[in-house]
Amino acid sequence: MRSGPAILGAALAACCLAACGSDAHVANRRSGATVVLPTAAPPRPPARPKPHQKKAKPPPSRPGARDELITHGPRTGHDVALTFDADMTQAMLAAVRAGRTSVGYDPQIVDELRASHTPATIFMTGLWPTAHPDAARSLASDPLFEIENHSYDHAGWEPPCYGLPLVQGDSAKQDEVQKTTAILTDLTGSAPQYFRFPGGCHTTADVKLVAGAGETPVQWDVVSGDPGQPDPAVVANNVLRGAHPGSIIVMHLVGAPNAPATAAALRTILPGLQQRGLHPVTLNQLLGTG
Ligand SMILES: [Zn+2]
Repeated sequence: MRSGPAILGAALAACCLAACGSDAHVANRRSGATVVLPTAAPPRPPARPKPHQKKAKPPPSRPGARDELITHGPRTGHDVALTFDADMTQAMLAAVRAGRTSVGYDPQIVDELRASHTPATIFMTGLWPTAHPDAARSLASDPLFEIENHSYDHAGWEPPCYGLPLVQGDSAKQDEVQKTTAILTDLTGSAPQYFRFPGGCHTTADVKLVAGAGETPVQWDVVSGDPGQPDPAVVANNVLRGAHPGSIIVMHLVGAPNAPATAAALRTILPGLQQRGLHPVTLNQLLGTG
């Protein structure tokens, strides 16, 4: 377990990285709740063989699931995908239940998308509809939005992963995928097709495990840097500088205090993409599976 100062130290480091427009995350500790919002995997030392650990054989991929990590769509054309991670850890859910009802959701982001008729893909954790049931139903019934799998409780799959609690073992990882698939299928009426690793932390074997569970793992090629970033101009610049045809842009649906500038940044990002001739679509549309 990490100490308070260690978590605060990580938060400070993350804020610095975010301001530099690089991979970033933030950890806030308030009212006893630790909230961790990674956006990209931290560098990891090369994997060392573990002689005593028998390698689990992943199940074969189901038809339709791609056995590779997708980071972007076709570089021809004009389409890009705006994706918003709806993180909800057990600690965040405890904060919601303790009365901090806005934790994990900024409805202004959805307002901006709806007002501009902008399609988007939401990577939703299995716990998110428990914390925000009305919003989850509203998003699920809106044809602008596609809802995909972001694990059950946003635990990290491979260390180091921003201090997130870790999933232990392949069986638990399969549970993370399948429990959420069941929840999202119940919510939307159809099974998710894509899975995003919390924090992007994964191995090649994890990619195969997700594909074996019937979902295609999807990362990103443009990091908005919205966690821990109070200045919407920085977030907008990161996106507009990085976006190209086929880009998958990662942002967060969680709002303040963890990603306070996302909604405001969209007011620059959406017209900016249009000026550059880039057209937001859902992941299904971008990847040609819709
Ligand atoms: Zn996430």
